[in-house]
Amino acid sequence: MRKRRESIVRKEEPKMHEMAIAEGILGIALDQARANDAQRIERIHLLLGELSGVETEALTLAFSSLVRGTIAEQADLTWDRIPLSGRCHDCGRERPLRPQDYLCPDCGGGMEFTHGREMRVDYIEME
Ligand SMILES: [Zn+2]
Repeated sequence: MRKRRESIVRKEEPKMHEMAIAEGILGIALDQARANDAQRIERIHLLLGELSGVETEALTLAFSSLVRGTIAEQADLTWDRIPLSGRCHDCGRERPLRPQDYLCPDCGGGMEFTHGREMRVDYIEME
């Protein structure tokens, strides 16, 4: 399910934040392609934590404007959302979390987020 905002502007400009991320992603992919003598990048798959703050719609838009004229022009940008999880400082148990969960439900210890904030390239398909 994806909620869309109604907007009187037909196509939003990519936001600076997502543009910077898209540039980083493309840079990584082009470096990998060069290192592997690839002619074409077909797919870039990301891992995006629930709390990474990335707007995928803006990211896709930014990415598609950057890849024009590069070997990644036809590449699909795909991703998995990584749910939030954390580990208790006291009992060491790891569990799924909600953003408002700061204390361990078992022992009341402080929780440390272990997943859910990541934002990285998982793999790149090229040929
Ligand atoms: Zn605990």
